[in-house]
Amino acid sequence: MLKKDFKIFEKDYVYLDSAASAQKPQKVLDKLLSFYQSDYANVHRGSCELALKATKLYEEARQTVADFIRADSKEIVFTKGATEAINLVAASYAQTLKKGDEVLVCIAEHHANFVPWQQACILSGATFKTFNVLDDGRWDLNDFEKQLTKRTKVVAVAQLSNVLGVVNPVEKVVKLAHKVGAKVMLDVAQSIAHMSVDVKTLDCDYMAFSGHKIYGPNGIGVLYGKCKALNELKPYQFGGDMVDTVRVEKTTFADVPARFEAGTPPIANAVGLAEALKYVNKIGFAKIQKEENGVFATLIKGLKQIKNVEFLGNPDLKTGLVAFNVKGIHADDLNLILAKENVCVRVGHHCAMPLHARFGVKASLRVSLGLYNDSKDIEKFLKALKKAIGFFK
Ligand code: PMP
Repeated sequence: MLKKDFKIFEKDYVYLDSAASAQKPQKVLDKLLSFYQSDYANVHRGSCELALKATKLYEEARQTVADFIRADSKEIVFTKGATEAINLVAASYAQTLKKGDEVLVCIAEHHANFVPWQQACILSGATFKTFNVLDDGRWDLNDFEKQLTKRTKVVAVAQLSNVLGVVNPVEKVVKLAHKVGAKVMLDVAQSIAHMSVDVKTLDCDYMAFSGHKIYGPNGIGVLYGKCKALNELKPYQFGGDMVDTVRVEKTTFADVPARFEAGTPPIANAVGLAEALKYVNKIGFAKIQKEENGVFATLIKGLKQIKNVEFLGNPDLKTGLVAFNVKGIHADDLNLILAKENVCVRVGHHCAMPLHARFGVKASLRVSLGLYNDSKDIEKFLKALKKAIGFFK
């Protein structure tokens, strides 16, 4: 039903790779065009009509993002993506962590929420620790509690793993982390498009997501931080718009969020992201989840009926995405046939090598849904997958 909002589907693509990047509804594309045609200028600098219009739209976009996750607009920093948002926080911690401090991440983290913390620990002399997941894909909370100590300064975790598809008990982990005085960096890059994300309920200190996975443009991301937590961070990049006064002797910095938005920001992309969030809001997560869950159930049922499909984690615990292998056939080989059938899925380690090592595999095939997918897509995918398996038998 919602496919009609996306011009790209006028061609017969079976697009099942929204976890990598989602397609864009026409409304977002129209907004980008009209912004460039009628409202475009740099922001926070000029005082001509266009500069004022562009600044107003850019700041309204910040407010739309804040409302979407129930934050205050001062708590929203625009970045180029989730990866940059996490790097911004980790780069500051690299300067303030000390030997003896610990950072705890889940073994399932996307490299974007894994490597920046690992590197921050290497630079600062702090200890980088991981906690495990259970065979069914859920967090191993016993291991988490064992690894969490009074020395833990940061816990970095995702609400929804981009491989396991399990919605994690974030609130519980945030409470435990706060008890030992640790801050929580929450990666909602995957969950943001599938469920309502509310920073007041989650109570995380920092949060990151990308616009392109929630039907917005690429080149825009969001770092949320509680005001106090943002103020504790050191500037990430230096340049125009993030300063208060600059003298030869000394520079003072602007207040947050401007302090973290050095240089010309991704102006049109922020406006496009706001349009995407309005689009999602208009449909509503109740409807999105109802449709997606129905399509997903058909997918899991179909996969379970195929011999030799081996899931990463329990398929019944997943939301929106599933990763698996077919015993005896390399995922890359299957993908070659799927691609020929016009089916777009993702094959590889999905930027989660430590997780794949945990499950004893090098790669997997991932199918992920967006709000535009329907049961016809699943039928076509299952048919193509059976054909591919038949080919290699
Ligand atoms: N975290 C997770 C869970 C992801 O799935 C991704 C993207 N695959 C990222 C972070 C990084 O997002 P981006 O590449 O848009 O910065």
